[in-house]
Amino acid sequence: MKTKYPMLDGGPFFRANDFVVLWRRLIRKAKKMEGNAAMVDVSDNQKDGRFDFDEYPVCESCGEPNSVEVLKAIDGNRIVQCENCGLWFTSPRVNEQKWINWLLEDNERNREFTENRLRYGFALSRNIQLAFSFWWRLLRTRRQKKLRSLFALHGGDVQRIFDVGCGCGYLIKAAQDLGIQASGNDLNRYAVERIRKLFGFDVHVGLLPSLFDKGFVEKSHYDVVYMNDYIEHTYHPKKDLDAAFGMLRPGGLIYISTFCVDSERYKRLGSSWDMLMWNHCFHFSSESLKKLVTDVGFDISMCNVNDDKGSVELVARKP
Ligand SMILES: [Zn+2]
Repeated sequence: MKTKYPMLDGGPFFRANDFVVLWRRLIRKAKKMEGNAAMVDVSDNQKDGRFDFDEYPVCESCGEPNSVEVLKAIDGNRIVQCENCGLWFTSPRVNEQKWINWLLEDNERNREFTENRLRYGFALSRNIQLAFSFWWRLLRTRRQKKLRSLFALHGGDVQRIFDVGCGCGYLIKAAQDLGIQASGNDLNRYAVERIRKLFGFDVHVGLLPSLFDKGFVEKSHYDVVYMNDYIEHTYHPKKDLDAAFGMLRPGGLIYISTFCVDSERYKRLGSSWDMLMWNHCFHFSSESLKKLVTDVGFDISMCNVNDDKGSVELVARKP
């Protein structure tokens, strides 16, 4: 029997409605709507509640307290640049403990995003209309292609991978299907408990540095630590990278993918770019990301900016 969760049984190969989805996607592309918050209803993004923005962080990368405003995003999010090292970050932001508690809570937002991800491959309800019926097959193929290229770059025998901010476990499932041991963590407690129950994944609730310090994730144990669309969300990317460094075996790789502000996409969309909205704490350039990673002790193996998507992919090795 077919389930409503394609990750369980692979899901359909094709449905007639996929033609409609394709049409919607082509129109968005032709109108250059992708990522342009000025052209879509972004009220979905406000479902995270209406918190006060009253926390003014110092620079995470260098500790400098002084910063200057760079821009205000379309939702009013204020982005500043460190006066010393040039890192871009959101300030003021939502109080860290309030935000953590919100993610750990069993609330409407966490349920909705999780169920959407599990059924359609998208978190936001407005994007469900863009989901192909075969989204999981497509996503798994892409993740596995990425994994194979990482394994080739690694050069050795890759046995264990850890996904930081694993969400609904897409990467974990894709890796397991390749015969790799995969585990992960997330702050969305509802999601973690859901995928533990549905798929039996080895996943933890909590922030990486605290899981590492408490011994829930092992030292010098993993071959690859994976951070896809994660580092822009965390309040302490440097602490996360420190923990990742400690978890990796010598020669192990860290993979980071995030949006970047030294891309053509940023130049084109500027403050209308949906990536610059409030629930992203950091807005890296390829240079500021490289600096953070090398400061922790990694050697950069590869760093590529995709101008069209506005993303940067970085792979670095623990010596
Ligand atoms: Zn700085």
